Amino acid sequence: MNYRSYYVGVESQVKLENGKTVVGINFDNGATTPPLKCAVDAIQRDLNWYGAIGRSKGQKNAYCTEKYNSIRNNILSFFHLNSEGEHTVVYVKSATEGLNLLAHILLHGNNDMVLISRMEHHANLIPWRENSNHVDYIETDNMGRLQIPTIEAKLRHYGGRVKYVAITAASNVTGYVNDIHQIAKICHRYGAKIIVDGAQIVAHREVDLAGNCPEESIDFFTFSAHKAYAPFGGGAVIGLKEYLFKRDPFLKGGSAVDNVFDYSQKWLESPARMEAGTQNYFGVISMDSALRQLRKIGFHQIVAHENELKDYLISNMSEIPNVTLYGDTTNTEDRIGVIVFNVKGKKHWEVGEALATDMGIATRDGKFCSHPYVTRLLGLTNLPQYEADLDACGMVRISLGLYNTKAEADRLLYYLKTL
Ligand code: PLP
Repeated sequence: MNYRSYYVGVESQVKLENGKTVVGINFDNGATTPPLKCAVDAIQRDLNWYGAIGRSKGQKNAYCTEKYNSIRNNILSFFHLNSEGEHTVVYVKSATEGLNLLAHILLHGNNDMVLISRMEHHANLIPWRENSNHVDYIETDNMGRLQIPTIEAKLRHYGGRVKYVAITAASNVTGYVNDIHQIAKICHRYGAKIIVDGAQIVAHREVDLAGNCPEESIDFFTFSAHKAYAPFGGGAVIGLKEYLFKRDPFLKGGSAVDNVFDYSQKWLESPARMEAGTQNYFGVISMDSALRQLRKIGFHQIVAHENELKDYLISNMSEIPNVTLYGDTTNTEDRIGVIVFNVKGKKHWEVGEALATDMGIATRDGKFCSHPYVTRLLGLTNLPQYEADLDACGMVRISLGLYNTKAEADRLLYYLKTL
């Protein structure tokens, strides 16, 4: 199935170094994605109806406020939750903001203990380290997979002191999908809450935050809409009301307060309490539209399309003598369409640059905001060696989107064989 007609901009021409123009290929969906047409249409439709959210009187304000708030139910339902349950939705502009918000409001002073993994993006690493003096790490194995049994061992070792376990749902480097429900069960057995970085999963796999039983339920989850075909600054934290309704907000200011006195203030109820300042209405409605479209297409179709392309690329790239692939290239079922590699004798940036200027293929190269994980995958865990080689070490990443095609994969494979 070809999904290109659903998207804006995927047929845009780009200029190569030799002066020719070609339709650009975007294999950088892990960084950001082009918009679905429906997301752009949703914005276009409401431009004539734009008004202030929450604060003012007037028909446009009422229309936007009602829609903005009702979309919270759509978001909950997309993740198999409902408004009667324990979770609520707080809008944010990105996963980075969501994780900073959570690290800021959840940790009570910096003595609360947090477990994170070596697989994390910096967004799910630095905020915890900055807000707690007690962060420990779940290691990855030699294929780069999370060592899930060590989570239980650590939780047991710390005897109930770990308050939060923050883990990615899917890696932005190897594409491994973590079994967040299995991890949730382990966390809950030891009284810890689970926080899931959903940045890489939402556009690729169906996410059921409820799980099959209360022990499997995900306590906090965050994602960015720009990685799910709505690049207009939308995103959300979906989390336990019990926490989001009671804690002091991360961002402070207007719209979050009920009353402000000379030397203190009384916060509003959540979610408004957590959403100070003027909100990004168009980010929210475009996110809603994109998620509904993904649901309509169906995750069976999305996964089937992505797996076909991923396996085609991995098996063909494995045959190219100069290409070194990272992560498990035999058992690929638990990987979304993210493939990392190097070309022997070339620096990662040379390959990334050549793909762009010679072929019009956009990829990402470097350490993908996941320095500890990438250095481990490269076998550079010895710190002095790693520091000496900090800039030189890295990889090239292909990250697939729903609109990518086999013909695009062939163009990449053809070129890699010439390097
Ligand atoms: N987490 C993961 C796994 C990511 O891949 C990214 C971005 O690449 C982020 C968090 C941060 O997302 P954003 O840049 O949208 O805040």
